[in-house]
Amino acid sequence: MVIVMQPGACEEHVEGAIQAVKDFGFQAHPIYGVNLTVIAVVGDKTQEHLEAFELLPGVDHVARIDKPYKLAARRPRVTETTQIDVSSAVFGGPKIAVIAGPCAVESEDGLREVAEGVRAGGASMLRGGAYKPRTSPYSFQGMREAGLALLKMASQRTGLPFVTEVMDTRNVELVARYADMLQIGARNMQNFSLLSEAGQTGKPVFLKRGMSSTIEDLLMAAEYIMSAGNEKIILCERGIRTFETATRNTLDLSAVPVLKRNTHLPVVVDPSHGTGHAWAVPPMAKAAVAAGADGLMVEVHQAPERAVSDGPQSLTIQEFATFMAELAPVAEAVGRTMA
Ligand code: PEP
Ligand code: MN
Repeated sequence: MVIVMQPGACEEHVEGAIQAVKDFGFQAHPIYGVNLTVIAVVGDKTQEHLEAFELLPGVDHVARIDKPYKLAARRPRVTETTQIDVSSAVFGGPKIAVIAGPCAVESEDGLREVAEGVRAGGASMLRGGAYKPRTSPYSFQGMREAGLALLKMASQRTGLPFVTEVMDTRNVELVARYADMLQIGARNMQNFSLLSEAGQTGKPVFLKRGMSSTIEDLLMAAEYIMSAGNEKIILCERGIRTFETATRNTLDLSAVPVLKRNTHLPVVVDPSHGTGHAWAVPPMAKAAVAAGADGLMVEVHQAPERAVSDGPQSLTIQEFATFMAELAPVAEAVGRTMA
């Protein structure tokens, strides 16, 4: 059940409604939107409770949520996407936010060059892996804490906040000390202890869809983090496994309208991991924006042919600039602008 407050409801009315929920013995999860505050009510409720909440001052309406993901579900009659601010980067607003950077942090000079390049090209946020989930234990595993320190330096230099992956509960605190947003990768989407640990840091979480997960699985994973008290989640479609081998994964762009219909959380698309080919990134990014995505994540490398991981799907800095320029008219065609 959710209590949707009237637009501009005062703090006293919001607090009063939260207290009323608690007085009935339920949990209240308030979500403060730009125009609307919604209070998700968790517990075993009856029609009488619904009617009682409807009478509270400042309440617009009360609605039942028939989805298993109670906190992540889009509320009936509320069209607004929850806007998530990660320092200067904003997800879920009218602008399309672009996260760009190398697959892995490899060196100070390389990272600086990419960070400055993507900022000049119009990115809102920097990415880079310091802990890399590699299929082979013999592949480069990442620079770990040294990589986090380089990301922090590049971020301070460019003013771009950064996101980086955390793979293990033992590193959550360390990664959260450096990063502006924690990434949970496809391989860990259902690592429930990692989800709750990341949720407890209070940092925004960038949650990537598992390669063999349904959209509902993704939303239930988000629910784990939200039920730990962290509402700041950005969902990412990054391609799923199918029988097709022409692309690295099959980028499921229909997930975008499905997610927009079912959740209030912002949706980002990663066409780099989604396709595995740099040449496929610009067309799929345009399609993602046209489909309603709130943002994009793309891999960019100063010399993709020398990248230690994911070179074939990485754009050069020059290609990134062209990519951003070509996205602008597509964003405008669907009523958005590039951040
Ligand atoms: C990444 O973004 O660095 C990554 C490893 O992606 P995924 O978890 O989607 O494979
Ligand atoms: Mn990668």
